Amino acid sequence: MNQFLSRRTFILIPMMSILKIILKPMQVFASSLASREEWNLSKDEWKSRLSPESYYILREEGTERAFSSKLNNEKRKGVFHCAGCDLPLFLSDKKYDSGTGWPSFWDSIKGSVETKMDFKLIVPRTEYHCSRCGGHQGHVFNDGPLPTGKRYCNNGLALRFVPS
Ligand SMILES: [Zn+2]
Repeated sequence: MNQFLSRRTFILIPMMSILKIILKPMQVFASSLASREEWNLSKDEWKSRLSPESYYILREEGTERAFSSKLNNEKRKGVFHCAGCDLPLFLSDKKYDSGTGWPSFWDSIKGSVETKMDFKLIVPRTEYHCSRCGGHQGHVFNDGPLPTGKRYCNNGLALRFVPS
């Protein structure tokens, strides 16, 4: 690697970690940083790993069309993994039909997702993303069923279902 470049990267990574700690309470990131350095991939690396549709959701915080994902109707027992890094995010027994047209869950696997505020639609919403690769998954609302009262409204393109 070019010496200048490697030195810059060497400085940049710890700086980004410091910034992340400082800025975290502000929660203003456009896209989320990966918590693990090996998942801090470049745009091109992500583009080569993902389909263009999944790239748009996971890395550009896009939203798929309602009722467009076949995972919306997925009722088998299994685990929903992050389509970016394969981290297990949701269990099928926490999935329910919210009627919104997006796969919905009332709870996530502990520690698998992190949240931040999002003002894209002016009204503040709580965005959530994979805690490992930072890939955008969806938004979480407080109108879900008990016991949590949460509704994790997830893009099907951001998930990979593994039946058990
Ligand atoms: Zn991930």
